[in-house]
Amino acid sequence: MDLTIVIPLFNEEESLPELGAWIEKVMLANGYTYEVILVDDGSTDASWTVIETLNTKNPCFKGIKFQRNYGKSAALNEGFKAAQGDVVITMDADMQDSPDEIPELRNMIIEGGFDMVSGWKKKRYDNTFSKNIPSKLFNAAARKSSGIKLHDFNCGLKAYRLKLVKSIEVYGEMHRYIPVLAKWAGFRKIGEKVVEHRPRKYGVTKFGWERFINGFLDLGSIMFVGKFGKRPMHFFGLWGTLAFMAGLSIFIYLTVSKFFFDQTGMTQRPLFFFAILAMIIGTQLFLAGFIGELIARNSPERNNYLIETRKGL
Ligand code: UDP
Ligand code: MG
Repeated sequence: MDLTIVIPLFNEEESLPELGAWIEKVMLANGYTYEVILVDDGSTDASWTVIETLNTKNPCFKGIKFQRNYGKSAALNEGFKAAQGDVVITMDADMQDSPDEIPELRNMIIEGGFDMVSGWKKKRYDNTFSKNIPSKLFNAAARKSSGIKLHDFNCGLKAYRLKLVKSIEVYGEMHRYIPVLAKWAGFRKIGEKVVEHRPRKYGVTKFGWERFINGFLDLGSIMFVGKFGKRPMHFFGLWGTLAFMAGLSIFIYLTVSKFFFDQTGMTQRPLFFFAILAMIIGTQLFLAGFIGELIARNSPERNNYLIETRKGL
């Protein structure tokens, strides 16, 4: 199969028929063998009925329905599990992404040798202040901390090699950071393509202003988990030792001043409290490190290597 198109959707009944027809047109024009996996993320409107109709008319349209709204990441993850095409495309259901971009994206993977190509909504049709400016900040932070040179991490329109989507797990709200997940999984050829962005025709956006706070918190988590997820003690142990040693040194200094230089009023000095605080925090960090190690040791993914090739085995 040439292509799998994964579309997460939540209450998008109006857009689906038009989107389906447009995708069909593009697939036919290029002669692809394909499947479209529509993941209904617990819609409360008629989205699922529309998906059933699409499937009756064309069995290449398939559907997965969640019992309730689990979020875009969960929907993508489930679509990735079911995908079979050599190239997997993700796009939003609201027709803000254009299916006309699909052939070019696929070529960049098949001929260009990219593991993943991310869309870049260079010209956006969203509300300027509530979305564009925070989005610039957010992308700059993601670029800086992950070292991946992308302008638009969160673009819904992306293309992946099949092996990549089978190697990552998109959980929580990590759909914003799939390029980072891919990089941690060892896929280094991550490209970018300027894509057409269109105004939302039907329905409303499903993400409010909280997206930016959550987005930044998730960036912190993903960088931490990627680096220290399997060796938490290397993080907590280092900072714990530093804090404890700082506290201990100050304590020794205070003790020496008291007994050898006859200074009084040690317990009144701010430094005294700082030393105690530093030692307590240091111990706490150490304990957090041990607990982290216990959790990492019991994690089912602790030895989930991705093997690229084998020889003679
Ligand atoms: N979506 C989803 N589950 C959710 C929220 C959103 O599957 O809980 C889908 C939504 O239907 C759309 C895509 O994710 O297909 C992007 O959402 P939206 O267009 O609201 O985001 P925006 O374009 O405003 O960033
Ligand atoms: Mg949208």
